[in-house]
Amino acid sequence: MDLKSLSIKTKLISITFLVVAVCATCITFLTLYQHQLLYKENLSRNLDALSSNLSDELFPHLALNEPELINIATTIMKLDRYQHIKYGVVVTSEYKLLAQYLNPKFTVSEADLAQTDWRKMINGDIFPARSELLQSKAIGGDEYKIGTLVLVADVDEQLALDNTAMINQLFPLVLLITVILFVLSHWMQSGFINPLLKLSELVSRVSETKNYQLKYRVDGEDEVARLGNNINNMLQTIDKQDIENKRHTTKLLKQQQSLKHLANYDQLTGLPNRKFFAELLKQSLLQAKRSNLTIAVMFLDLDDFKTVNDSLGHHAGDALLKLVCERIQSHLREQDILARLGGDEFTVILADLPSEVTAVAIAERILKSFEKYFYIQEWEIQSGLSIGIAFNEEHKLDAQALISNADVAMYRAKESGRGQYAVFEETMQNVQHRHMLIANELAKAIQHNEFKLFYQPKVSPTHGVVGLEALIRWESQFDGWISPAEFIPVAEHCGKVHDITRWVIKQGFADLEYIKQTLGLNLVTSFNVSAIDITKKAFIDYIQQAIKTNSNDTSLIEFEVTETSYIENFEASSDFFKAMHELGCSIALDDFGTGYSSLSYLTQVKANTLKIDQQFISKIFTSEDDRLIVESIISLAKKLNLKICAEGVETKQQYDFIAAHECELIQGYYFSKPVPLDELKVTVDMINHSHRFCECEQSVVHFAKKR
Ligand code: C2E
Ligand code: CA
Ligand code: CA
Repeated sequence: MDLKSLSIKTKLISITFLVVAVCATCITFLTLYQHQLLYKENLSRNLDALSSNLSDELFPHLALNEPELINIATTIMKLDRYQHIKYGVVVTSEYKLLAQYLNPKFTVSEADLAQTDWRKMINGDIFPARSELLQSKAIGGDEYKIGTLVLVADVDEQLALDNTAMINQLFPLVLLITVILFVLSHWMQSGFINPLLKLSELVSRVSETKNYQLKYRVDGEDEVARLGNNINNMLQTIDKQDIENKRHTTKLLKQQQSLKHLANYDQLTGLPNRKFFAELLKQSLLQAKRSNLTIAVMFLDLDDFKTVNDSLGHHAGDALLKLVCERIQSHLREQDILARLGGDEFTVILADLPSEVTAVAIAERILKSFEKYFYIQEWEIQSGLSIGIAFNEEHKLDAQALISNADVAMYRAKESGRGQYAVFEETMQNVQHRHMLIANELAKAIQHNEFKLFYQPKVSPTHGVVGLEALIRWESQFDGWISPAEFIPVAEHCGKVHDITRWVIKQGFADLEYIKQTLGLNLVTSFNVSAIDITKKAFIDYIQQAIKTNSNDTSLIEFEVTETSYIENFEASSDFFKAMHELGCSIALDDFGTGYSSLSYLTQVKANTLKIDQQFISKIFTSEDDRLIVESIISLAKKLNLKICAEGVETKQQYDFIAAHECELIQGYYFSKPVPLDELKVTVDMINHSHRFCECEQSVVHFAKKR
C-alpha cells in the first residue's frame, strides 16, 4: 500500500490509533512490571515473617540433644496452608537435611532435595530458579544457630494468576480510555480536517467546472479559516482574470475573424478578393469535374473607371464600384460567385451551367444593364464594361489558366470597343503568347541596341515641312521588324515603356542637333510619351539633363501625349505640361477624338497642338459623322487657340480637305512614311520641292472652297 495515496484523515486516524495503542500497551506493561516488583517484595516479606515464626517454633524441637523429628516434621507441615510454598526444609548446622515439606502441586521430588548442597544454597553460592524465591532463616538466631530453615516459594504461578486478575481488571479500563481517546482525537481531527476536506473538494470542483465564482464558507478564525479566506481571495482574483482572459480571447477571436475576413474579402465591396477567389475557383473546378458540369470564369473590367476616380474623387470612385458590384450581382444566379480582383476588375465563377449559351446570356444581360446610368451624389455616370468569358472545356485547365484565359478574352473585348464581351478562343492565346514573348525580348532590345528612330515629316500647307514626329522602330532578333503599335502597348503593360522612352529621348535629342546643325533643318520635332512616363517625377529631370547634354533648342522640342494618358493622369499631366512649358518645349494632344473626348478638359489643359486621329481622317469621305467630328475638332481648336495636326493623311483628296480647313500641320503617307535619319534630308527636300506651298493662307481656303 502506498502511504502517499492515503488521505490525511486516514493517516491521522492510523497514527492516533497507533499512539493510543502503544501508550495503552506501555502503561499495561509498566503496571504489570510494577505489580511484579511489589508482589515479589511482599512475598519476600511474608516469607521472612513465616520463616521467622516457623524457626521460632522449631527452635525448642531442635535445641534438644536428640531433635524431636516428629515435632519438627509436624511444625514444618504447617506450610501446606501456603499454596505458593514449593517446599520447606530444615537442615542442621552441619547442613544435613533433617525434615522437609514438599508441596504436591509442584514437581520437586525428595531426591532433588536430598541432592541439594544446602550449604551453598544457604550461603548464596547456588541460586534458586528464576521462578522461585528462597528464604533461609537461622534457627536460634545467628548467635545460637542450631540449624537453618529454608523456604522456597513459587513466584510465577501466583504472579501469573495475579497478573491475569490484574489484566482482567485493567483491560476494560484501558479499552475504555483507548476508545475515549480515539473518539476524542477523531472528533478533534474531524473538526480540523473536515474544513480542509471541504476546501479540497471546493478546489476539485473549481478545477472540474472552471467556475471561479464558487466560494468557501469561512467558519472561525483558525489557520484553515485563513486558508479558506485566502483561497476565496485567490478564486476572486482568478475569476476576475478569467473574465478578463475571456474578454481578451473573444477580442482575439474577433480579431482573428476580421483578419481572416481581411485576408479573404475585399474591404470596399465585401466580395471575395483575388486570393480567396482563386481558392473558391479551385473548389468549383473540382466539383464541376466530379459532376461533369460546365463551368466558366467571367472577367469584367470597367472601361473608364479611372476617369471617374480622377475627376470626381476617390469617394465617388468607391461608390461607383459598390453600385457596379450590386448591378453585376443582380444579374447573376444564386450559385454564381462574384469577386473583386482589385481596382476595377471583377471576376465571376459561373458554375453549374446548363450550356455555354447561359454564360453568354448572363454577360449580355450585365452589359445591357450598364447602359443605364449610375447615380452618385449629383452626378449621372455611365460606365462602360468589358467582359471576357472562358470555359473549362473537358476540365483540362486549372484555376490560374482559366482566369488568365478570361483575362485574355476581356482584353480582346476591350480592343474591339467599349461595352463588349468576348469568349476566349485558342487564337487569343497565341496573341497572349506573342505578347509574353515581346515582353521578354524587350528587356534585351535596349541592351542589344535593336531600336532605331525614324522621323515622319509634318507639313504645313503654306510653309512646307515644318515639323517631324520621332517614331521608334525595333528590328528584333527573334522576329525582325516589330511595329511600335504592337510592342509599345506590351511595354506599357509590362512596365518597360519608360526605359524605352528614355532611350528615345536620349537618341532623339542627339538626333535633333544633327538635324539642325548638320542637315540644316529647323524643324519642331515631337516625341511620343506614354501615360506612365508623365507620372514619373524624375522624368522631368531626365529631359532637362538630355537638353543640357545636347544643348538643344527647346523651342524645337514637342511632346505628344495621348488624350487618354492625360485624362487618366490629369494632375501628373498638368505638372508635366507645366514643366515642359517652363523649359520652352511644347505639347501636342495625340490621337485626339479616340478617347474620352472630354472637351471640358480642353479648357484646362495647356497644350499647343491637337492631333486629329487618323481613324477620322481615313473616313472623312465615307462617314458623315467622322467628317463632322473632324470639322468640329478643328473649329474647337481654333476657338481655343490650339494648332491642329491631322495625321494619317494618305491621299490628295484628304490633304485638300484638311488644308481647306486651315489645318496648320499635315502628317501622313501622302507626303512620306517615317524615314531613317540618313534619308530625312532627301525626304524633306523632296516634299518641299514637289509641292508648291503657298505662303498665302487665303488662297488655300479659296482652293478648298472651290472644291
Ligand atoms: P502615333 O503616335 O499615332 O503615330 C502615328 C502612327 O501612324 C505611326 O505609326 C505612323 O507611322 C503612322 N502613320 C503616319 N502616317 C500614316 C498614314 O498616312 N497612314 C497610316 N496608315 N499610318 C500612318 P507607328 O510608327 O507604327 O507608331 C504606332 C504608334 O506607336 C504611335 O502612334 C505611337 O502611339 C506609338 N509609338 C511610336 N513611337 C513611339 C515612341 O517613341 N514612344 C511611344 N511612347 N510610343 C511610340
Ligand atoms: Ca504620336
Ligand atoms: Ca497619333
